[in-house]
Amino acid sequence: MYIGGQFVDADSGDRYDTINPFNGEKIASIPYAGVIDVDKAVAAARTAFDSGPWSRMSGEERSDLILKAGAILKERMKDYARLESLDSGGTINKTGADAFLASRQLTFFGEQAKRFNSEPQPIDKLMREGRSFNYTIREPIGVCAQIIPWNFPYMMAIWKLGPALATGNTVVLKPASDTPVMALELAKVFDEVGIPPGVVNIISGPGGVIGEALTTHPDIDKVAFTGSTEVGREIMSKAAGTLKKVTLECGGKGANIVLEDADLDIAVDGSIWASFYHQGQVCESGTRLMLDAKGHDKFVKEMLEKLEAMKIGDPLDPSTQLGPVVSEGQMNSVLRYIEIGKKEGAVLACGGQQETGKGLEKGWFIQPTLFTGVTNNMRIAREEIFGPVLGVMKYNNVEEAIEMANDSIFGLSAGIWSSDIGKAKDIASRLRSGTIWINEWHILSERAPFGGYKQSGIGREFGDVGLNEYTELKALYVDDAKTRDNKPWYDMVVSRSKSDN
Ligand code: NAP
Ligand code: MG
Repeated sequence: MYIGGQFVDADSGDRYDTINPFNGEKIASIPYAGVIDVDKAVAAARTAFDSGPWSRMSGEERSDLILKAGAILKERMKDYARLESLDSGGTINKTGADAFLASRQLTFFGEQAKRFNSEPQPIDKLMREGRSFNYTIREPIGVCAQIIPWNFPYMMAIWKLGPALATGNTVVLKPASDTPVMALELAKVFDEVGIPPGVVNIISGPGGVIGEALTTHPDIDKVAFTGSTEVGREIMSKAAGTLKKVTLECGGKGANIVLEDADLDIAVDGSIWASFYHQGQVCESGTRLMLDAKGHDKFVKEMLEKLEAMKIGDPLDPSTQLGPVVSEGQMNSVLRYIEIGKKEGAVLACGGQQETGKGLEKGWFIQPTLFTGVTNNMRIAREEIFGPVLGVMKYNNVEEAIEMANDSIFGLSAGIWSSDIGKAKDIASRLRSGTIWINEWHILSERAPFGGYKQSGIGREFGDVGLNEYTELKALYVDDAKTRDNKPWYDMVVSRSKSDN
């Protein structure tokens, strides 16, 4: 782990193994932190924030170091993609894209640091114009706890560290227990470029213990979390004790609405991309596929052909399209949802089981699974499954599709496939979700805000808005009234002295 600029073990000396989901083999021995380690990391981050230099550096100076780190990530892209595949089971194509994007995104945050203006910004159109100068100043929030999930372990670390560092905060980051490797590896990069000790702290260990210690810690000013809605709720309620700032990026159940006039070639492949990318372990996946009743059968038939041809295999083999899910626990959870779907009366159109074909026996593979006949009240339509399982629903008219799409506690993402962009935009304006794609899925720009409506989250990442989530806004009032006579309001509580008369 990395605390106060030192590479350290857990105070207890405890360790655990992280496992390769492809073959069940151990890939690394990882420190298993406890509350004492949290206290140490928070103390280091607090001292670094309160005494500087990081929090008081100019944006340009911070930018310089962040950009250096971004350049190193670019050089090591291939190595990091491989590590991430071994740790998470993500296919090398997916982790390769992640590694490319992580370096690009950190570079983006580095550029933002340069533009981040902590200089006073004048406010005009004041109430008592001419009697005062008023300014706003954006400042870092302080010590930020950052808790991230296992589906994009490397990229989520960058999404969290990037904006926090760009704005001068110090951080304690906790990766998911299943996928700690890349976050710990990143500590080496920040150390190498000379980010001052205590600015970045990375500790690994159980969310229930460390996560809670971070969330309730009096010396932490903000908690940023990505993961399940259930844990998000817990974090919010625990953070209430010290009124920490909280940003949450939680679950989703993306509605994917295919209109009758959609280009079928693109929409079929696009809907598979939307829901099976990374074995379906993506919060903004399109997991509720809504098809027009008239086009339904043809669409499903084409989809089934493609799903049955999907290449399941070793994540490190570039021809693999579907890798294992992250852990045995996750595999069992997904298989349980498949059983629930069957019991609820959905029709299993393909897949539905663990895949144990040759060479895959020791891994946590699940066949690409399609349910048809799904209705929006079924648990498989209401809850996040987070595996290669897609449910198809029929609609009779677009109004019905919109209603079903919005009938969810989640509001992270949605998508519409249509050759009529005007119509698609109209529908987009009525969907209660933070990101909406038209004829596409998963593609995110670091300049566009990302986050959830409803119980999918609070706050946004990316864009200027994402940067602001790591800042406090200060108002500065500088008097320009000059004489006591110009301050008659003082008379409300104090008499003027003789010399004033
Ligand atoms: P999770 O439990 O929400 O875990 C996310 C992070 O929170 C991990 O670092 C975890 O640590 C930590 N954590 C766990 N309990 C905590 C607590 N009480 N206080 C503070 N932090 C805590 O997610 P998961 O169990 O890995 O996955 C479960 C479900 O979450 C998935 O099936 C999926 O539905 C959803 N999920 C959503 C996203 C997303 O991007 N929106 C990502 C992953 C998962 P440990 O790893 O040590 O437990
Ligand atoms: Mg692992």
